[in-house]
Amino acid sequence: MHHSRLWLCREHFNKFIENRVMRTIKRYNLIRRGDRVLLGLSGGKDSVVLAYILSKLRETIGFKLYLTHLNLGIGEYSKKTVEIVRKISEKINAPLIILDLREILSIGIPELALKTRRPPCSVCGVVKRYLLNALAVELKADSIATGHNLDDMVTFILREFLVQNLEQIPKLAPRIEGAEDYLATKIKPLYETYEEDIKKYAELNNIDYVEEKCPLADEKTITSSLKKHLGILENKFPGLTIGFIRRFVKNLEKYPKPRDTIRRCSICGMPSSGEVCSFCKITQKALGKPMGPYAREYIREIV
Ligand code: SF4
Ligand code: ZN
Repeated sequence: MHHSRLWLCREHFNKFIENRVMRTIKRYNLIRRGDRVLLGLSGGKDSVVLAYILSKLRETIGFKLYLTHLNLGIGEYSKKTVEIVRKISEKINAPLIILDLREILSIGIPELALKTRRPPCSVCGVVKRYLLNALAVELKADSIATGHNLDDMVTFILREFLVQNLEQIPKLAPRIEGAEDYLATKIKPLYETYEEDIKKYAELNNIDYVEEKCPLADEKTITSSLKKHLGILENKFPGLTIGFIRRFVKNLEKYPKPRDTIRRCSICGMPSSGEVCSFCKITQKALGKPMGPYAREYIREIV
């Protein structure tokens, strides 16, 4: 392990990573005894490895783990992700809820992007956030866990700093509190785990994940360039990234608080920064009517 200057065998490497996730959970008070945690599984290495590690920690901490996957309707890529998440759910014996976008909206992400004339990742982000939150609310989950790793988080923080979007920075904390009964708390248990270690953990434990990139991914973004360069810096100065994130959390209070107050969408009742939420807006544009209320009903029936 380059960053810690350690050479470990498989058994000790596993222990090291699992202990690190456990310490992150304790340090930032991410999961408490008796919690119901809903993990958003994309099928990629981070969320799949997180599912695997959380399943090992659930007895010790004493929480219930639920998995969910959103079938985005992106052709072969989505078929593969569904296969992978089914496998991991069986392997770790955790209940899995698959939400199928084509069943809910009758169209997938590629058509939604075309009809709204917005970049695929932008509509995809709105849809994922909305459905994941709606499901967590319906399940009365204490939190939504996501597989964001250390490299992702430092990249996001640097990007917001570069464009001086300082108010967005506190939203990159390891735990973001929810509100009442319509906004779920979000947690990131891999906040202090290097991406490289997650990859190694998957390899050493024969954990299958989707290796292909999403065909709609935009590679020419500030984020992907920043991540590449961060990797070069970390190689040159081992431990730089972990040192940064720990100091960042200590300094969180110094960043300006977000000005946009969260209220309820006047159409579907879910969180929104304006009168109508982004999900209702984009579905109105693509399908001629806001689909928030329908999506909520669909999820209510599944749960
Ligand atoms: Fe969605 Fe973009 Fe990720 Fe593909 S790359 S799954 S479109 S956010
Ligand atoms: Zn809405």
